Amino acid sequence: MNDYRECTTSKIYLGKYSDLYKIIYGIEPIFLIDSNVFNLYEDYFIDEKYITIPSGEESKQLSSIEEIYVELLYAGANRNSYIVGVGGGVTLDIAGFVASTFMRGIRFGYVPTTLLAMADASIGGKNGVNIEEYKNIIGTFNPPEFILIDPKFVETLLNKEIRSGYAEVIKHALIRKNKLFDFLRTNSERLLAKQPELTYDIIRTASQVKIDIVNQDEKESDLRKILNFGHTLGHAIERIKDISHGEAVAIGMVFASNVSHHFGLIDEKYLCEIIQLIDLFKLPTKIDIDKNMIADIMMKDKKRNKDTVDFVLLKGRGNTEIRSLTKSDLEELIGKFL
Ligand code: NAD
Repeated sequence: MNDYRECTTSKIYLGKYSDLYKIIYGIEPIFLIDSNVFNLYEDYFIDEKYITIPSGEESKQLSSIEEIYVELLYAGANRNSYIVGVGGGVTLDIAGFVASTFMRGIRFGYVPTTLLAMADASIGGKNGVNIEEYKNIIGTFNPPEFILIDPKFVETLLNKEIRSGYAEVIKHALIRKNKLFDFLRTNSERLLAKQPELTYDIIRTASQVKIDIVNQDEKESDLRKILNFGHTLGHAIERIKDISHGEAVAIGMVFASNVSHHFGLIDEKYLCEIIQLIDLFKLPTKIDIDKNMIADIMMKDKKRNKDTVDFVLLKGRGNTEIRSLTKSDLEELIGKFL
């Protein structure tokens, strides 16, 4: 494996799943695996100790975590056990949270299997679960020891999950890498068709954006907040509508781009290009939703202060600005742009 990077204390390998035991040589891990991934790749786990996690955001809740703790105890887990999470962002958020809290914390690593998790969710050490409409409200900052990215897993992803992954890739292009923006515009069809070399390049480039940001601000005291671009609204939508994380973020990015244009931070041409790009990746740009309810939920975002939320806006190409918005600001903007 010659593609090696570091993000805070995580070692990140871009290679093949078969290299796993070169990374955790001599360790017998307990795998926490997404149930769909287990069904598709059962052969990989035949001789292993594993616990499957039902696929879907509904698993990101404390009752599921409790079940996993019990299964770990029945499987004989102890303070020296090692967890490997295998799956998309949902499974990795759960695996990281379980490993960080079981017996006050045990060692763990990740094998992301969705594009979204390879480019974004596996990196940066945030884990957590939801309570009611509060998204990722219980969790820790605790980086996995390793992240093994094997782009081959992308081949079995449903098209809607590929599109969902591209929402976070587009986010990285908008907040930091405008060359990536142009690349996405010219190659959308081949990327959606999962062309292997292009997929490899895009995972490498998009994940590097997150690595660079997290390496500068691990605990989100400042710069890392920009990764929430599109997420304040996206998270609120996800809590009340049955759509994927990426689809919700896409709608959130269109809204935040409109707001950026409204405040004079980006021009009309760029706003149109952003909406076109999101559309090129067959992601939604609008949603029919209860507008009164959505501002209430946005005010429950983790990035809220006493009476305001930190809202990430674009400021020109590849740059951002954070503004504090009150509930009445949000209501007005939602009325205009959602
Ligand atoms: P997901 O984990 O629900 O996976 C999406 C679907 O793909 C699931 O049905 C899963 O079973 C299936 N799947 C996974 N790998 C597959 C494969 N190789 N082949 C076929 N099917 C496969 O969703 P996601 O989009 O990966 O992640 C979304 C979650 O990530 C959200 O909960 C979000 O909050 C979280 N997230 C976390 C961070 C972070 O920094 N911790 C960042 C971004 C998103």
